[in-house]
Amino acid sequence: MFCKKCGEQIPDDSVFCPKCGQALNETGNQEEPATGGVQGGMQVIVFIVSIIMIIVGLFTFLDTCS
Ligand SMILES: [Zn+2]
Repeated sequence: MFCKKCGEQIPDDSVFCPKCGQALNETGNQEEPATGGVQGGMQVIVFIVSIIMIIVGLFTFLDTCS
């Protein structure tokens, strides 16, 4: 992995960067995937809702025509 502060390449299990002393706690590393997961989940929900809305709208349109 690389230090988030100075960019130095450091072992994956490092707690502190040996070069600049930046704390490399797991909390910081876990935030990004968690945030991405929430956003990804929201995108899937929005996508599904959009599909449902299109289908419902299509059926409503067909009912109006017939
Ligand atoms: Zn560093």
